[in-house]
Amino acid sequence: MAGSGRSPRAVDQGATAVKPAEGKPDKIRCDACPVTCFIAEGRTGACDRYANEGGALVRLDPLTILENRADAGAGTGDLVPFLEREWDGDILPGQESFITAVGAGTTYPDYKPAPFIVSSQVEGVDMVTVVTEGIFSYCGAKVKIDTDRHLGSECAAVRAEGEVIGHVTTSEYGSQMLSLGGVNHLTGGSKKEGRVTCSSLLALCNGEAVELTIDGGAELVVKAGEAPVVNGAREERMRVGCGSATVGMFAAQWKGLVDEVVVVDDHITGVMSEHQAGKVIGWAPTGIKINGRRSTPGRYFQVAEPGTGWGGTDLTNPLDILGAFNAKLAWPGLSILMVSTTGEHAAYFELDDSLTPVEKPMPERLQPSVARIEENCEPAMTSVLFMAGAGGSLRSGVTENPVGLTRSVQRALTYVSCGGAPVYVWPGGGITLMADVTRMPLNSFGYVPTPALVAPIEFTMRAEDYRALGGHMDYVIPLADAVQGASGRQNDHKLKGRRAVAPGPRNPWPARPDNYPWKKTAR
Ligand code: SF4
Repeated sequence: MAGSGRSPRAVDQGATAVKPAEGKPDKIRCDACPVTCFIAEGRTGACDRYANEGGALVRLDPLTILENRADAGAGTGDLVPFLEREWDGDILPGQESFITAVGAGTTYPDYKPAPFIVSSQVEGVDMVTVVTEGIFSYCGAKVKIDTDRHLGSECAAVRAEGEVIGHVTTSEYGSQMLSLGGVNHLTGGSKKEGRVTCSSLLALCNGEAVELTIDGGAELVVKAGEAPVVNGAREERMRVGCGSATVGMFAAQWKGLVDEVVVVDDHITGVMSEHQAGKVIGWAPTGIKINGRRSTPGRYFQVAEPGTGWGGTDLTNPLDILGAFNAKLAWPGLSILMVSTTGEHAAYFELDDSLTPVEKPMPERLQPSVARIEENCEPAMTSVLFMAGAGGSLRSGVTENPVGLTRSVQRALTYVSCGGAPVYVWPGGGITLMADVTRMPLNSFGYVPTPALVAPIEFTMRAEDYRALGGHMDYVIPLADAVQGASGRQNDHKLKGRRAVAPGPRNPWPARPDNYPWKKTAR
């Protein structure tokens, strides 16, 4: 795996959880996770997130504060263009800054209130945001890899450093999906499996490149927001569509230029003369025969085995999918264009006197149509969604009545964000969420050696809704105080510092009333 500066390391809990020997310098106990490290002066705990500095427990990463000022760069740039700088001490109006959980720390076990519970006023509405770094044993990443190439069979194991950390799941339209991590790989296998799963998730979620191998499939290098590398080759394009769709999209453009078009695709290969798109515009039959399972006219499944060749098949020679032409319909000189779903592969053939296809140079008249397919392909990308269940005791840091938070989230009265980025909350029970890691501040994630991932999570709601769900009202501090460096009295650690970042350009402001149904009904 590509290097992570914060790669999980094994920890001997027994060794760290002993009282210091007589005469040795005092150690302090960190209880921000179940490991409960005893940390000597000048040293860090097992996760490198906390240190003993002069006898005080210090959270080492700075608290990240979103700064919603025009001159902070908000609304400009594209992927993760977060502006980073030292906090300059400015006092900002409440609605212009948002305390994220990145660097906030955790108050474990969560019967203690979350590290920051801050009040603010946004458009005249009293709001509360509860901020904590959640420790997620139930978490993983869903990875979408834009490629036609076959990466591995469904359910095939995905490995990092030789350990199984997930599996291949369903293919989507132009993408192959991986499901990585999850509680079974974190806790249900060997110590090494859990550690490697945790370090791989940490690296992926923090925007680092990770090397993966798939049993019986490809070798990959994936990095959120960048093109995947498959078997050493950087993927350039996402398919324009399946073979059938490609035939439909370009039928009119090919009419009169060529006698037959076959768009080779591992899933649905399209054949122009038989396809409805060809029929509608009066395409003549050619007597072509495709070696595959015919689905509907001009649409064939299983023309070859999956692979990294033409259209996600194992084909290096597209003629392998053709049977003999019907002599009653075909004719010598019949022209055939065969092309893949990305335009990466294309070849031109003409039938000889024995009705055998013979490859010829691609005629100039067809070159623009192949280029058009390529032009219509989007750049290939790797997308990483962090997925976790924010249930269990984490909710107790928010409220004395945990189910109150769950219900409030499900009714959309509480807005959930991760590092200020929006999340998708699944319907049904619990608070099961997904967040695009490229919309979160860089290096938002940490780990603890249990092993589990540490991820920022914020819950924002009206003050009246917070009170109603049994919130820790006695621990609320004004946002302005938090921005200036105050922290909640429940905190047993100090902050190393603060950093201001601009919100992601596509991210809604986490505390804006538009996020809530009560604002919509008030219109
Ligand atoms: S692993 Fe980290 S969070 Fe857990 S007790 Fe040790 S220093 Fe604290």
